[in-house]
Amino acid sequence: MLQTPIEFLSGVGPNRANLLKQELNIFSFQDLLHFFPHRYIDRSKFYKINEFPQNNSEVQLKGSIISVKTTNQKKGKRLIAVFSDGNQKMELIWFRGHQWIKKNLKTNVPYVIFGRLSWYAGKPSMPHPEMETEGSFNKGFSKSLQAVYPSTEKLLSKGISQKVISKMIMELLNSLKIPFFETLPPGIIDKYKFANKNEALINIHFPKSQEKLTAALNRLKYEELFFIQLQLLIKNLQHKQKIKGYIFQKIGAKFNTFFEQNLPFDLTKAQKKVVKEIRKDMGSGQQMNRLLQGDVGSGKTIVALMIMLIALDNNFQSCLMAPTEILAKQHFQSLKDLIGKLDISIALLTGSTKKSERIILAEKLESGTLDILIGTHAVIEDAVKFKNLGLAIVDEQHRFGVAQRAKLWRKNTLPPHVLVMTATPIPRTLAMSVYGDLDISVIDELPPGRKRIKTLHYYDNNRLKVFKFISDEIKKGRQIYIVYPLIQESEKMDYKDLMDGYESISRAFPPPKYQISIVHGKMKVKDKDYEMDRFIKKQTQIMVATTVIEVGVNVPNASTMVIESAERFGLSQLHQLRGRVGRGNNQSFCILMSSHQLSSDAKTRMETMTTSTDGFKIAEVDLKLRGPGDLMGTQQSGVLQLKIADIIKDSQWLKTARNDAYELLRLDSKMEDPENRPLRQTLAKMKAFKNIWNYIS
Ligand code: ADP
Ligand code: MG
Repeated sequence: MLQTPIEFLSGVGPNRANLLKQELNIFSFQDLLHFFPHRYIDRSKFYKINEFPQNNSEVQLKGSIISVKTTNQKKGKRLIAVFSDGNQKMELIWFRGHQWIKKNLKTNVPYVIFGRLSWYAGKPSMPHPEMETEGSFNKGFSKSLQAVYPSTEKLLSKGISQKVISKMIMELLNSLKIPFFETLPPGIIDKYKFANKNEALINIHFPKSQEKLTAALNRLKYEELFFIQLQLLIKNLQHKQKIKGYIFQKIGAKFNTFFEQNLPFDLTKAQKKVVKEIRKDMGSGQQMNRLLQGDVGSGKTIVALMIMLIALDNNFQSCLMAPTEILAKQHFQSLKDLIGKLDISIALLTGSTKKSERIILAEKLESGTLDILIGTHAVIEDAVKFKNLGLAIVDEQHRFGVAQRAKLWRKNTLPPHVLVMTATPIPRTLAMSVYGDLDISVIDELPPGRKRIKTLHYYDNNRLKVFKFISDEIKKGRQIYIVYPLIQESEKMDYKDLMDGYESISRAFPPPKYQISIVHGKMKVKDKDYEMDRFIKKQTQIMVATTVIEVGVNVPNASTMVIESAERFGLSQLHQLRGRVGRGNNQSFCILMSSHQLSSDAKTRMETMTTSTDGFKIAEVDLKLRGPGDLMGTQQSGVLQLKIADIIKDSQWLKTARNDAYELLRLDSKMEDPENRPLRQTLAKMKAFKNIWNYIS
């Protein structure tokens, strides 16, 4: 019944149906029923003209029309009606649709009008009011809260107004008659005093009171989040039951020798904890599917190495995939340094690896003489075949989608264990929604002895002060990064800014006393490497760069990160950049330079950076500013296309729904309890449809 195409609803012909499909993605009764309002207006209050708020708010009043006239003004024709509330008068104005409106306006008949106020020279008027005779208003469906639906210009111009949408939904509800199928177990409905399904669907469109609306909203939001979580958790459970994994039982010579001889420092408690969690997964007989979260500098690299050594001790190869060439190279270098003289063969494969080298690499991989492969997504190309890949680590940086991850699995008979590392922290709520099917480990502690990076915000006119600061740091023997934005759309301008900046810095810090490196995306790899190398060897004191260094370099002697036009960077990028300093024992600094003109979001970003160094906290603010879709990139936004819930505003419901789904599966994993029957039925229906709201019929 609910699958009936929308054109079969009375009052909706083929023309309207086409508009609804094109503009609102409404194809069936089902879609219309779940086309939710985005806000509500209060139609229970009536204003008098002399009580109007002095702003452009929406008001409703009763009264009648005294006169109607058409005027010709410079900006075009207008239809003006003088409206009286019995004491005062105001003008109602129409810019379009004059003939039709004029024909229908009745003078001296009581009307209820509603609309947004407009003020001119201290006098109120109301353009394009919604009007209804008092008689029809009193008969109408909603006298208190009225739903407002998302709409488009095109719909409005074709006469599909809010009123028309409401009428269609009313028509639908009346024609359906049968109560809707309850999808949640009674226990949950009681626990949160939710509206039942039927009441919820009626009150979401035609709320009988604020309380009923709240109960409906809460229920539908919860329901949406709950079923997503339930599906993700079931996927996770099934995965564990179905997908067998290699069993890494042994902790052998490679791991032990490394631990005893090469470990350069004591592991933090958090590092030990996650190594343990990962070891347990890899020994369980099921394939590991785990997300490792940790702030910049929390020490994820060594964790990655140690688990690759466990794979090796069990005679399996590993690979580590990074999002950029620079990062892949850096991983390769740091892992090589950590491995030292241990007998482990490790290689790097990126887009710029020469063909002749690739051939040798491929042979070594297939014969199993290569233990660890580090690289960019070049490592998942079809030509790359492992003898026995046991572990794949993905350093995600938001860029790799699940599809690419899955591709790795097919390299062998059994899928390798998969560990996804995020380079920037993801707020818990977001991680739950996007990675809900993965197990999550968190390194929530930085190695000891790190000094908190001091972050300062200066406006551009304080540049001399900043130069003085830089020269003092250089006197102490430290090195400085100065970073410029390079954003694709304005590449030419940005490039000029970078060069101008480089020139003025060169003037302020002239050779031979000072030496400056410069690195940007347009340089050849060879030249980039050369410039970076000079900086790493302390031959240059200042590195002027674009964001290519964001994930790149590790120079513990660098104490200061200056970020130019900081207002143009996003929070996670600023945090990543700041993470380039504070890697040694010296007090480090991050200086944000910006113009005076800051948007309120930019101000929030500057404030957040100067007051917090906690990546998880910063990620929460970032999520609030940018929204989930932007934060995760388009790849994952599908999971985030919610119809009624909002993972930021409703994060409390998300957590609750997640916990409930978890508890429920723990107690009744097959949902056999009669109480849980609605869930089982609903899930079965959901499988048949992509959209999770397509399950009731
Ligand atoms: P990230 O998590 O950002 O990848 P890295 O793995 O690059 O962090 O580690 C950052 C720095 O901290 C490196 O120089 C690394 O050697 C050092 N480090 C990692 N773990 C510890 C530890 N337990 N004690 C001291 N230093 C550590
Ligand atoms: Mg790292």
